[in-house]
Amino acid sequence: MAEKTIKNIEGIVLRSTPYKESDAMVNVLSHDGLFSFLGRGVQKNISKNFASCQLLSKAKFSLVEQKNGGYALSESEVISLPDGKGDLTRLAIFSFLSEVSVKLISEEEAGQIYPWLCQTMDLLKEPGKEASSALIYLCHLLSVIGYGLEVNECVTCGKKTNIVGVSFRDGGFVCSDCASPSMKMTPRNLKILRFCFKCGLEDALRVSFEPKESLSLLKNLISYVEDFTGVKVRSLELL
Ligand SMILES: [Zn+2]
Repeated sequence: MAEKTIKNIEGIVLRSTPYKESDAMVNVLSHDGLFSFLGRGVQKNISKNFASCQLLSKAKFSLVEQKNGGYALSESEVISLPDGKGDLTRLAIFSFLSEVSVKLISEEEAGQIYPWLCQTMDLLKEPGKEASSALIYLCHLLSVIGYGLEVNECVTCGKKTNIVGVSFRDGGFVCSDCASPSMKMTPRNLKILRFCFKCGLEDALRVSFEPKESLSLLKNLISYVEDFTGVKVRSLELL
């Protein structure tokens, strides 16, 4: 008898869709791309694989190839679990992170965004960083998928001084000569946006903006994404 192919991956669960009675189709983001597999019985909390198949769990998964070419979960080992702390804002942020990841990331881009999702989940261990972590994640996700904003100069004329706002239509900062009144933003918001698009993994640990500031910027960015991609992000309404 031929040996069954085993695939070992480490990743974060982006979606777990109930299937039949207690099974689920599980989608995972990893360094090596996006994976999906059938988790038998994983909806039951007595399953040894229950915890690792929860939304945003980070785990090691051992997958066995099926006759139909798909994969089924054989074993798993939890690395870390998201802690909702029974808090609705945190749960809404978790849905937001998984929704934007599922809807916007393609196979080719998955490996690039994985370290950012890992970092974001680490940041979320500290309470109070929910909205700012989500904002930093979204900015990096947008850069990876080619929708990053130009935050170094005016996107219209290239001037680096007197930046006063954002033109979402043109995809970046605009100076006082090029901005229309509706594009204007506060210097503080412009500074936050610039930081979020440019920061490295380590820098992201140092900051926390006011939840209100982060949420209003998140909303701006999401309506920009929705306009350009036609994707509708529903979880933001919960925030
Ligand atoms: Zn300009």
